[in-house]
Amino acid sequence: MELNERQEKILKIVKQHGPITGSKIAEQLSLTRATLRPDLAILTMSGYLDARPRVGYFYTGKESEEVMTSKVRNILVSEVQSVPILIKQDTSIYEAIVKMFLEDVGTLYAIDEEQSLVGVISRKDLLRGTMGSNDIEKVPVSVIMTRKPNITICYPNDLLIYAANQLIEKQIDSLPVVEEHDGVDKVIGRVTKTTITRAFVNLME
Ligand code: ADP
Repeated sequence: MELNERQEKILKIVKQHGPITGSKIAEQLSLTRATLRPDLAILTMSGYLDARPRVGYFYTGKESEEVMTSKVRNILVSEVQSVPILIKQDTSIYEAIVKMFLEDVGTLYAIDEEQSLVGVISRKDLLRGTMGSNDIEKVPVSVIMTRKPNITICYPNDLLIYAANQLIEKQIDSLPVVEEHDGVDKVIGRVTKTTITRAFVNLME
């Protein structure tokens, strides 16, 4: 069952302030108690809220499976994406490692002179880069990064569930969120396993 906007608002108020009387809810929404009556009846009948005489409405903690599923299905990448950390493709492996520590991220994205995405650099890529007898202060990340066309990307309007599936299927930790402008793949965000975990926890709360 889809809740309407007002029902969602009521649910939020009761979650935060319950037990709360119908009049108090009406007050918070600047509506009359009579206007709210049908919404409260629906919320009570469908099991979201419970009502006790002289106590008021309280949240049952039960969100139907259907509601949870439709919430998960509707989250867009743009709503939860985090900030991408970008480096130039001629950055040295050494500099990239420093950047990874300073920014506290697990993946860096490499861009070219036009600011277009050209590579993905993960922790294991950097480890591999340090294992040879290479001079890591000289060797650029372009030597070790995963390059186009092998980069898996997503777009801001993609569903988060699609991005999550890509992470699982491709066995990777993050996806760059890309916006295409005149042939330039501008990286505007990042979806990681942490992004998905945070979205999951937020939903449960
Ligand atoms: P880690 O290497 O730290 O375990 P990943 O599992 O994300 O991190 O990376 C594994 C490999 O997949 C690396 O070689 C990395 O370059 C590559 N990779 C990571 N993210 C992507 C992506 N979005 N598209 C393509 N390849 C990726």
